[in-house]
Amino acid sequence: MSSAPVRPDPSAEPSTDDEATAFVDLGLRDELLAALAALGYEEPTPIQREAIPPLLAGRDLLGQAATGTGKTAAFALPLLQRMSVDRPTGDPVALVLVPTRELAVQVSEAFHRYGKELGTRVLPIYGGQPIGRQLRALDSGVDVVVATPGRALDHIARGTLRLGDVGTVVLDEADEMLDMGFAEDIEAILEHAPEQRQTVLFSATMPARIDGMARAHLTDPIRILIAREQPVAGEAPRVRQSAYLVARAHKPAALGRVLDIESPTAAIVFCRSREEVDRLTETMNGRGYRAEALHGGMSQEQRDRVMGRLRAGTADLLMATDVAARGLDVEQLSHVVNYDVPSAPESYVHRIGRVGRAGREGVAITLAEPRAHRMLKTIERVTGQRITIDKIPTVADLRNRRLELTQAALRESLLEDDLEPFRVIVESLSDEFDLMEVALAAVRLAHEATLPGALDEEEEIPQVSVRPSRTSRPGPEGRGDRRSGRPRGTGTTQVFVGLGRRAGVRPQDLVGAITGETGMNGRDIGSIEIADRFSLVEVPAGLADEVITGLRGSTIKGRRATVRRDRDTDGGDRRRQRH
Ligand code: AMP
Repeated sequence: MSSAPVRPDPSAEPSTDDEATAFVDLGLRDELLAALAALGYEEPTPIQREAIPPLLAGRDLLGQAATGTGKTAAFALPLLQRMSVDRPTGDPVALVLVPTRELAVQVSEAFHRYGKELGTRVLPIYGGQPIGRQLRALDSGVDVVVATPGRALDHIARGTLRLGDVGTVVLDEADEMLDMGFAEDIEAILEHAPEQRQTVLFSATMPARIDGMARAHLTDPIRILIAREQPVAGEAPRVRQSAYLVARAHKPAALGRVLDIESPTAAIVFCRSREEVDRLTETMNGRGYRAEALHGGMSQEQRDRVMGRLRAGTADLLMATDVAARGLDVEQLSHVVNYDVPSAPESYVHRIGRVGRAGREGVAITLAEPRAHRMLKTIERVTGQRITIDKIPTVADLRNRRLELTQAALRESLLEDDLEPFRVIVESLSDEFDLMEVALAAVRLAHEATLPGALDEEEEIPQVSVRPSRTSRPGPEGRGDRRSGRPRGTGTTQVFVGLGRRAGVRPQDLVGAITGETGMNGRDIGSIEIADRFSLVEVPAGLADEVITGLRGSTIKGRRATVRRDRDTDGGDRRRQRH
């Protein structure tokens, strides 16, 4: 635990979080603080609070943290700070190993964002990308390499990735890397790194193998475990909790749609940064909501005005950061929405505590990217409450919901309004038209007047699903390059991928591509058969469509492949020629 001092912000509303610590208290240098401010990060997440000080001090670290906790910044910021300015050789001083190319790209981007003012050179290297470009970049000098283990080892063997200057090695999502069969590659890589180095290991789970790895490669590490505490009995608010799994790109649309269906009286939408608050406020206003922004960059007067509008009912959505919403108490709130899975269970509990008060039912909704699914599970475990995963409403659902709302409005009008002044219209039209037709036309006008915005332009949002991890699974050798031919038992589907050994495809390339493109875990993938010109991958039947869509949208070894269900297993069409 860091012992950083509590730093109250005099302009903030009363703090209910005693541990509120600012980035500046963690000892980060000005360039990094400036980058964080520009990104709109208002305060460190719990893992950042705990990990940054010891990492800056050069300690090894073993952290149990899933995606969504802010772990990337937790290791990237200290690394950037510790990077010395004069680097004579141009060889990397830090190596980050990650399980998938998607993560390699993400982590590199994070380094870029945080290290902008320091001019840090970061290079992602992963299988499937042309090696030439990587060679040129390595040659011209880089500070941080973010790599998948297989490709890192390729470069080490070629002598193009030299680890002699590496002062820090980070193993990110170590459990995933082991699941994907990278244990040996990792061992081999670590052997090439200087013995005198800092080693950081993050893993969402801590099975015995991870523990063994930590014991072998970490020296007297700081251990950080978030989310261990037990649920507090009797404190559970009456809150209906649900979550939607949705890819980042579809989140704004998903938020709008979920809110359309829920029709909250008043809702607060929690965002991670100021920048996101501003952006989403605009989006939601464009969708016909009366949304207001609330973040730490606003003056007290501005905030008071916003709160006034919410209380008076002239605003129905409040987009806010945690910092800005601290101590906020709004009677009318019916919904709390987490635009992202919160970075710690405490934060989740704290947020949803704002609804479901005084015996009224509240609703808590979380939009989770597939990769953050684990964090949801952790929150469920810690709170002892279930979070139901719901399907994102379809355009048809929206249409039905809108009709329902119109019907409710008409019913209300029939029961309460003085309709006499309109009788003359109906009577004169009924000379010419059927009464039913007159009613239909009136309903249509009412419908369009109250719910503007054509649904025709709404595109369907792809549903993603995450299956619970299998408990028993083949070891990494169990999914090697072997001919299993048939799916293992029921409930699996074989997916045909039109690239094989000739294209240099290895099992881990397929696993990497699938986990990178879907919410699946490496261990959900069954046997993989690699033939000369094609590969067959066994996946849970319910996820086959998602896998196929994901793979079609990406490249494997730099190439696009034909991807479809294997007809042998699905349709009985055995005409396909095996090359
Ligand atoms: P990670 O768990 O590292 O994948 O981070 C999850 C997301 O949180 C990323 O989109 C980060 O940009 C964002 N993030 C990390 N730290 C913070 C912070 N202190 N405040 C706001 N957003 C953050």
